[in-house]
Amino acid sequence: MINVEGLHHRFDTNEILKGISFEQETGTVTTIIGPSGSGKTTLLRSLNMLETPYKGVIELGNRLFNIENFNKQDITRLRSQSAMVFQHYNLFKNRTILENITEGLIYGQGMNKKEANAKAMKYLEKVSLEDKADAYPVQLSGGQQQRVGIVRALSIEPEVLLLDEPTSALDPESVQGVLNIIQEIASEGRTMVIVTHEIQFAKEVSDQVLFMDNGEIIERGTPESVIDNPSSERTRRFLSRLT
Ligand code: ATP
Repeated sequence: MINVEGLHHRFDTNEILKGISFEQETGTVTTIIGPSGSGKTTLLRSLNMLETPYKGVIELGNRLFNIENFNKQDITRLRSQSAMVFQHYNLFKNRTILENITEGLIYGQGMNKKEANAKAMKYLEKVSLEDKADAYPVQLSGGQQQRVGIVRALSIEPEVLLLDEPTSALDPESVQGVLNIIQEIASEGRTMVIVTHEIQFAKEVSDQVLFMDNGEIIERGTPESVIDNPSSERTRRFLSRLT
């Protein structure tokens, strides 16, 4: 499970996260929606300490991380439990697709090369990219690279998968393929937090939706309540602009 309490983050004097709190059960999907600049990505990155919030508590699995006494070891522990999928895939350009996946398994998880290769191939098969194992990222389409980004994160078997606008850099034809894979992973009972602008997808995949505006969670609940019947005027205004 995930439990976030009173998470604060600022850039210089700009308060970007103003005390974020939410809970999420294991095996469920939370999507974060909201206007541009509302702090969605900053929140997601803070859950993996790619950003450094200055106050708050993050509970992940059975570990509690208090931001105010966070140390280097905690970062390693936190990252072994949460894995990030980036908007722009962030694959290592000078490594093959297989090596992109085995890197974390060998250096992060201490697996030997043979085991890591076997595991990476299994994950590549999951996204029908086993024939691309020896290719380099530049030889793959955006959608294919993102599928690699997803299984790379999945392969370390994290407690939670964090996806930051996983389809927003893709051409329209590739979007559905990536969304289908995320749906499939969700149906396997993975815990995921997804920042997305795809409202229809958020509706289909989420157990819980967080609507953020100006560094705060304005509304949180099931997709039926937040997306179909929002109680806040700000949520209503945001959703009406999208239709
Ligand atoms: P979008 O939907 O456009 O991706 P978002 O809701 O994910 O937006 P964030 O990227 O989290 O929003 O940004 C929240 C605010 O923090 C914005 O005002 C942004 O300009 C600011 N911000 C983000 N990163 C930095 C940074 N490295 N330095 C200073 N300000 C930043």
